[in-house]
Amino acid sequence: MDAATCTTCSGPCAPRLLGVSLRPYFLVLPMTISPSATRRRFLSAASGLAVLGAMPIVARATTQSTPPTKNLAMDHTHTHEKIELLYAVGANYVPKALTELNHFLRDHYSGRIGSMDAGLYDIMHRLRTMLKVRTPYEIISGYRSPQTNERLRTTRGGGVARHSLHMEGKAVDLRLPGVPLDELRDAALVLKAGGVGYYPGSNFVHVDTGRVRTWRG
Ligand SMILES: [Zn+2]
Repeated sequence: MDAATCTTCSGPCAPRLLGVSLRPYFLVLPMTISPSATRRRFLSAASGLAVLGAMPIVARATTQSTPPTKNLAMDHTHTHEKIELLYAVGANYVPKALTELNHFLRDHYSGRIGSMDAGLYDIMHRLRTMLKVRTPYEIISGYRSPQTNERLRTTRGGGVARHSLHMEGKAVDLRLPGVPLDELRDAALVLKAGGVGYYPGSNFVHVDTGRVRTWRG
């Protein structure tokens, strides 16, 4: 269970754009042909097998194609910050991007920065891909410090779980402009990647990397 939307903004209100350059991550991928391969091709040509000798080189260049990149874009409804970045190349997360995302999804009440589970970003990436939209998510809540969670729990009349996964950086409350809330929920349920809470009254869906389960708030 989670806090409903709050109108209090404890963070800086000026819009800021955080992010990392995409370019460096595309430049490090090796596509070179080794000297030994060049030498093999030369020797093959010299022996009259130029075409056959070149084929392994072509095949190798194909198998070293660029791994799929994973991007995220988010607007925070409380801090009014925006972020758009490449957070992973294939199965490899980009450390600098994870650091920026930890800051972006910090406890906006206390300013405390947690360590977010990168599996959340994969869920969010897959959802946008599945729904075929490129609009930024609107974030209502990411990391929540234990102190903030306890304060919300005791002042919101039971709307916040005592052991919320937000405190472990494993949950985020969000919506996706242009996608009806129930469609976003249904897409998250299809993934079976964790918990999915549906909060139509507060206009957000909670997703987490805990066990697969669902509820309505
Ligand atoms: Zn939540």
